[in-house]
Amino acid sequence: MTLSEMENYFESIGEKKFRASQVFNWMYNNLVTEIDQMVNIPKSLKAKLEEQTTLNTLKLSDVQHSSSTGTTKYLFKTHDNHSIETVFIPDLKRNTLCVSTQIGCPLDCKFCATGLMGYTRNLSVGEIVDQYILTAAEVGKETITNIVYMGMGEPLINFDNTLQSVSIFTNELNKRISRNRVTVSTSGIPHKIIELADSPYRVKLALSLHSVFEDIRSKIMPINVKYSLAENIEAIRYYSRATKTRITFEYTMLSGINDRTEDVKALTKLCRSLPSKLNVIPFNSIAHMSPEGISRELKPTPKSRIDEFVAELRDNNITVMVRDTQGDDIAAACGQLAIRELKIPARNMRE
Ligand code: SF4
Repeated sequence: MTLSEMENYFESIGEKKFRASQVFNWMYNNLVTEIDQMVNIPKSLKAKLEEQTTLNTLKLSDVQHSSSTGTTKYLFKTHDNHSIETVFIPDLKRNTLCVSTQIGCPLDCKFCATGLMGYTRNLSVGEIVDQYILTAAEVGKETITNIVYMGMGEPLINFDNTLQSVSIFTNELNKRISRNRVTVSTSGIPHKIIELADSPYRVKLALSLHSVFEDIRSKIMPINVKYSLAENIEAIRYYSRATKTRITFEYTMLSGINDRTEDVKALTKLCRSLPSKLNVIPFNSIAHMSPEGISRELKPTPKSRIDEFVAELRDNNITVMVRDTQGDDIAAACGQLAIRELKIPARNMRE
């Protein structure tokens, strides 16, 4: 609940409005996990809350830590016994929490383990926010500086819940996370990008690009057949103008598919046409998902070619970052999030 929703709730049960701020503070600032720990709440109200409400919608079920990078993957169980993953990525300048917005994902991107899992359902606002609360309780509430919506699922399909969680992170947690430290990453749903631009939450936007050519993008990202790259570029131009922010393009390097000379040329033209930067991501193995079809044929671009590719783009004055394969030893790197026991073909889940 947002603070105002909580105030309405307390009034509806005949309690004073200020109780909402107290409970809100216990939950989001003191990160308590038991109603009994709220020492300034009267016993009778605690009993009512115990009966009518729940503090946490998720339960931490497993933690995997990469000793080489410090990346930690948290596995949470939902009330209906599904599993979701959240990744904490510490770095010199920032500590990022990568949150999930869906159980699985319906979009079936061919290089992504989550896509291979199929889709179960959207996460509720509580389940998105709880990933932060329960992780912050583990790592320390001041430790997390950035939140990226790049975990399991497409956030703009779960639009309302994503937005409400952004509102709680940026407006309500004592401004602990500022909105320029929140990034929503999308595979490209143009009308939702416009809606996000017109909302009060002017977060940073990342577009999963992966190819500048429509036919190739459609092969590796089936959503491109429905919403073309051309439509998405129009939408992100609008987003960048409306929010005065720079767009991040995510680009997973796939050997022979998007690492050719013509890709450098097309990327240069696109990146020059709007305020943007390019995040180059080495392709992480998804062999742990036993992929089939085109997913099975995808190969990572060799490091030497990534270096050349990036150098050519930088020579063209394009801002390029190369993302580390943080956490690939625990399958927590980009595109690797998937719960093995939930592996159901995406096609079957949509039928
Ligand atoms: S890359 Fe993102 S949108 Fe595509 S299948 Fe994976 S989680 Fe879904």
